[in-house]
Amino acid sequence: MNGTDLAQRSVILVTLDSCRYDVAVQAHTPNLDRLGPLVRAESPGTYTLPAHAGLFNGFLPRPVSGPFSINGRHWNMIWRSGAARSTERRVAVPFEGSTLMEHYEHKGYRVVGAGGVTFFDSSDPANSLPALFPEFHYFGRPSRTPVTPATRVVDRDANLTLAYTGPLTDLCLEADRFFLFVNCPSTHIPYTTPDNPLTDRAQKLLEVLYRLHDSQRNTSGHEGLTAEDIGVLLAMQKRALEWADARLGDLFSRLGTRRPLVVVCADHGEEFGEGGRFGHGHPHRTVSTVPLWCGVLDGG
Ligand SMILES: [Zn+2]
Repeated sequence: MNGTDLAQRSVILVTLDSCRYDVAVQAHTPNLDRLGPLVRAESPGTYTLPAHAGLFNGFLPRPVSGPFSINGRHWNMIWRSGAARSTERRVAVPFEGSTLMEHYEHKGYRVVGAGGVTFFDSSDPANSLPALFPEFHYFGRPSRTPVTPATRVVDRDANLTLAYTGPLTDLCLEADRFFLFVNCPSTHIPYTTPDNPLTDRAQKLLEVLYRLHDSQRNTSGHEGLTAEDIGVLLAMQKRALEWADARLGDLFSRLGTRRPLVVVCADHGEEFGEGGRFGHGHPHRTVSTVPLWCGVLDGG
């Protein structure tokens, strides 16, 4: 497989929002494992906006252990703008323009974006990310919804992006080639999915966790969360990833015959008190260390 082959393929790019690397190590992800081994990588952003701004400009989380590996070939970068300064590094897909979407649209691909965390609410004029797409579909809660436990600690099903694999893949299959981006919110707090509904205990823990996220400050003694509580919350994120993996299995089976290049990664991770803080948006190894899978689907 050479770079020309990769450059001509359709593309599936997925971000598992807030998914920790150590959670991905523990999770059962047979569909993601079809792409290749789980890679430990470092994100250029600590929260959704800068991480995706980098991603759409070709800056994926960087593998800690060396180049990206796709079907036995090694690449320093999967995408890199041809407008950037010249490099000796091995680039799988040099792209034209300032964003991946601009490049693939110019080449005649159907470019489709879908999101679930509020930075992707295309009705919010403050959001710049969905405007980078010619076509964007948002499934999350309205970004201007008042922030209360009742609006945030909720069961989720219809507002999870990967619940819509059917209509999203139908859009892709209307064209000869496609670029599909999916931001998956299931791994983002509150971690609920159709397979993982709220329990009374989870509801209380999530309300505490949201308060710790919102405080954006160092805490002592985790202010009400025990190590066992944190284990319960991390297990929720693990089950949310496993739900996403099952839905990605459906996505891959629908689009596999197009033999797309697939990259799945977290945009950033999440701290659970290891350095005294909770959440993301600040520099800590649990925030910058993310899981990544890449590969091609051949035949599906
Ligand atoms: Zn995010």
